[in-house]
Amino acid sequence: MMSADAIDNACDLEEMQRAQALSNHKNKTTHQPLVVDGVRCCIDCGDSINNRIKMLPNAVRCVICQEQFENQYGLEF
Ligand SMILES: [Zn+2]
Repeated sequence: MMSADAIDNACDLEEMQRAQALSNHKNKTTHQPLVVDGVRCCIDCGDSINNRIKMLPNAVRCVICQEQFENQYGLEF
């Protein structure tokens, strides 16, 4: 018969795997900057956002696409 500890450990492992899968998923859905020939580009339309990242170094979209994205999802990624 399994001890209570063994059952706890099994649950912890499952929990860990779920957390790991979730974090992998988040990493995949976190958008990396798109760089084309050394120029940072909008990940949605491909326009250069070099001017924009002077103000917002983490920006991955141009102003227009970012607005659309936020309207659609209500989130800033
Ligand atoms: Zn764009």
